Amino acid sequence: MINIEELQSTFRGRLIQPNDSDYDEERQVWNGYIDKHPALIAKCSGMADVIDAVNFARKNDIEVSVRGGGHNVAGSALCDDGMVIDLSEMRGIHVDASQKLARVQGGATWGDLDRETQVFGLAAPGGVVSTTGVAGLTLGGGLGWMRKKHGLSCDNLQSVEIVTADGELLTASDTENPDLFWALRGGGGNFGIVTSFVFHLHEVGPTVMMCAVMYPVEIAKTVLSTWKDFMIASPDEISSQLLFWALPDTDDFPDEARGKHVIAITAMYVGDPDEGEKAFRELREINTPVLDLSGKIPYSVAQTMFDPFFPKNERHYYFKSQDLASLNQETMDALIEGAKNRPVPSMLLAIWHYGGEMNRIASTDTAFGSRNTTFLMSVDSVWDDPADSEKVISWSRNFLDQMKQFSGDGMYVNFSGFGEEGEDLVQKAYGDNYERLTKIKTEYDPDNFFHLNQNIKPVSE
Ligand SMILES: Cc1cc2nc3c(=O)[nH]c(=O)nc-3n(C[C@H](O)[C@H](O)[C@H](O)COP(=O)(O)OP(=O)(O)OC[C@H]3O[C@@H](n4cnc5c(N)ncnc54)[C@H](O)[C@@H]3O)c2cc1C
Repeated sequence: MINIEELQSTFRGRLIQPNDSDYDEERQVWNGYIDKHPALIAKCSGMADVIDAVNFARKNDIEVSVRGGGHNVAGSALCDDGMVIDLSEMRGIHVDASQKLARVQGGATWGDLDRETQVFGLAAPGGVVSTTGVAGLTLGGGLGWMRKKHGLSCDNLQSVEIVTADGELLTASDTENPDLFWALRGGGGNFGIVTSFVFHLHEVGPTVMMCAVMYPVEIAKTVLSTWKDFMIASPDEISSQLLFWALPDTDDFPDEARGKHVIAITAMYVGDPDEGEKAFRELREINTPVLDLSGKIPYSVAQTMFDPFFPKNERHYYFKSQDLASLNQETMDALIEGAKNRPVPSMLLAIWHYGGEMNRIASTDTAFGSRNTTFLMSVDSVWDDPADSEKVISWSRNFLDQMKQFSGDGMYVNFSGFGEEGEDLVQKAYGDNYERLTKIKTEYDPDNFFHLNQNIKPVSE
């Protein structure tokens, strides 16, 4: 039991301990597979609470985890026996529409930010599920529907306010602490607790053209190769993921489509929706689809399209990725074979196309490790029955191992399973940027106070 008396005297938010009635609810994260028991959850209400929580933990030698949106599948927002510094109540957003800037607190979700920015027809590039935290997603990079047009989420940062391990509040930008700013754009939660981000915004919507066309998996070869050729030649306006999926048995889908194994093309056209409609025609006419949900919809709705399939704490998740050096015939055959053998139909196999602005930025300009690839494979394992956990996780790991022959070493740190490979994983994910990251870690967090993350170890360790 942690004695919270000293912290309580100044703390404005809530301090939750195991004997509190809502403790079990408060220790939930998105992934229902995670079952951790922190000794203290410090729900901060502002920057001062974050500073006090960091100082209190450091002085009392308490292990710390940091929670933004709680989506990380490894459950790194939580810890056993230590203290969760929880920013989930810090969701304030201020939009300066004339300057196209938004200041966003460290616990906001992408849904929060889209709501505030879309009122002005603006948006910052986020992810594809609205409940995901702005913080964890941005600090690891941030892949969404605007990656080709406007880059990763982290590429759109103007500055960041961060509480470091010694309880100091710093600003990081191109002109203040630029090394730290470089590291925060991809280097994850290694350097401190971000209390606010300032994002550059772009004019988007309010209506966008989405492609969401699902073909029978039996014609996967044709669909995959058509999509690959289309995407390589496509303009920056189009960002897309291709998914192997079994349509859920829910009201979201017509009776005749439910349960069908499909290969789905999902894409957004960031620009004139009429142009988008024309551009997507080729993808929608590959063959007779099982279902075509494509159409012009509000950007804010497009941002929530996948939300129903990833509910909080109800399902089990293990997402892990690997760069694909190319999508040649052999690689495509292996993907199709793997998709066929998925141990549970709720598992997704996703291929993200990279390119455009996110690849034009030099790989040494930010810490994000994988700018030089064209495709990323993500095994998005989703299952409901806890009895399937071992089967699904070991299948996912074996499949990723098999696919290594078609891959570089790179991967996306925000899709890194349970981070089981430790240092080896981060070294490979950051590639040539790793050494510089360890130096910056050593400068800002020499004792590795922030280590429950995709951990970059300081040089002294
Ligand atoms: C359903 C689902 C959909 C997803 N979709 C996408 C997607 O479209 N694109 C994409 O790029 N990724 C996506 N992800 C992955 C997502 O980027 C990571 O899970 C990310 O870690 C989530 O951030 P969070 O703040 O919600 O996570 P948390 O679990 O709260 O935090 C994860 C880690 O981030 C760090 N962190 C969190 N908040 C702070 C803070 N304020 N300051 C410093 N460090 C902090 C900590 O190290 C923490 O351990 C998705 C994940 C899920 C489960």
